[in-house]
Amino acid sequence: MQISKQTNLLKWWSKKDSPILIAGPCSAESEKQVLDTAHQIANSGQATIFRAGVWKPRTRPGSFEGIGVPALSWLQKVKKETGLLVSTEVAATFHVEQALKHDVDVLWIGARTTVNPFLVQEIAESLRGVDIPILIKNPIHAEIALWDGAIERFSKVGIKNIGAIHRGFFSPNSAPFRNTPFWDLAIELMRLHPDMPIITDPSHMAGRSDLIEKLSQTSLDLNFDGFIIESHNNPSVALSDASQQVTPQHLEKIMDNLLLKPETSSNKEYLSHLSKLRGNLNKIDEDFLEILTRRVNAVREIEDFKSKNNVSAFEIKRLNEILKTRILRGAELGLSESLVEDIYNTLIKNSFQLQTEITDKK
Ligand code: PEP
Ligand code: MN
Repeated sequence: MQISKQTNLLKWWSKKDSPILIAGPCSAESEKQVLDTAHQIANSGQATIFRAGVWKPRTRPGSFEGIGVPALSWLQKVKKETGLLVSTEVAATFHVEQALKHDVDVLWIGARTTVNPFLVQEIAESLRGVDIPILIKNPIHAEIALWDGAIERFSKVGIKNIGAIHRGFFSPNSAPFRNTPFWDLAIELMRLHPDMPIITDPSHMAGRSDLIEKLSQTSLDLNFDGFIIESHNNPSVALSDASQQVTPQHLEKIMDNLLLKPETSSNKEYLSHLSKLRGNLNKIDEDFLEILTRRVNAVREIEDFKSKNNVSAFEIKRLNEILKTRILRGAELGLSESLVEDIYNTLIKNSFQLQTEITDKK
């Protein structure tokens, strides 16, 4: 796959012509580990930005919490020796001050920071007037308001080059992933910010190195603008996130295997057939909306009738029966259970709203 070699980040930000790769270890552990890994990554020629966590937010105390300031001079060496740009996570104003002092090119805000509006605001204020690209990871829990709020806070202090990192979300049933991708949430953010680059972090989504290629291909297929992938010169001895890190050689293979599919084609036959298929879909949607209107009206009639007879609108047995029979019928027709369930839950919510409107009128 063609990876962007654009080291002028500001230019890449405005055009995003091909996906960008940020690669490097979860944590900077030693000068040797950092420089070995960086040289191998630079030699493969695919990454433009090197990543390494210097301050590590850990779930439990006592785990490796990063080297701190001394590791920043290793990143300066990476820049000088390999020509890669360097990036690190900042989670406090002190981190920002030190990262800027040590010429870090790109900062990222971690999932455990995005969740805290006070901290995000403080970090944003410390960057007022500074022209540095910021990448903002989604918070751990599955919703986009805080993620979008953090983007707004950085934008309001004048940061021009803001990007987002989709690193997956905590969910109780995340298997086989460490964090569930919930692609629809990231796509919602994309719709809110069509010009902002959004890259994925398949490493923290996967939690294991063997799932990274597939997640990377999915994110390309969904038009994400690149990746941040954890790569360590010897993952088995990594001090953090060992099971999800890949060697620089493995990373090179993953990138070679990825297929960049164009968003559209100029082939005339393709365009004319696609237009026919879309015409068909438009017609189905027309019928669908008509049927939906009929259904909403039928529900209103029932609610009206119940209300006139002073009967409660809420009948749990009937609700369960509707859900059960529709899911079964949907399955017979080849529809997925979750699709039918989601649709009927939305319809049921709407019935409650109708019923409230009717009661209010009364
Ligand atoms: C990281 O990138 O190493 C990291 C700590 O990730 P996250 O904030 O997504 O958990
Ligand atoms: Mn990590």
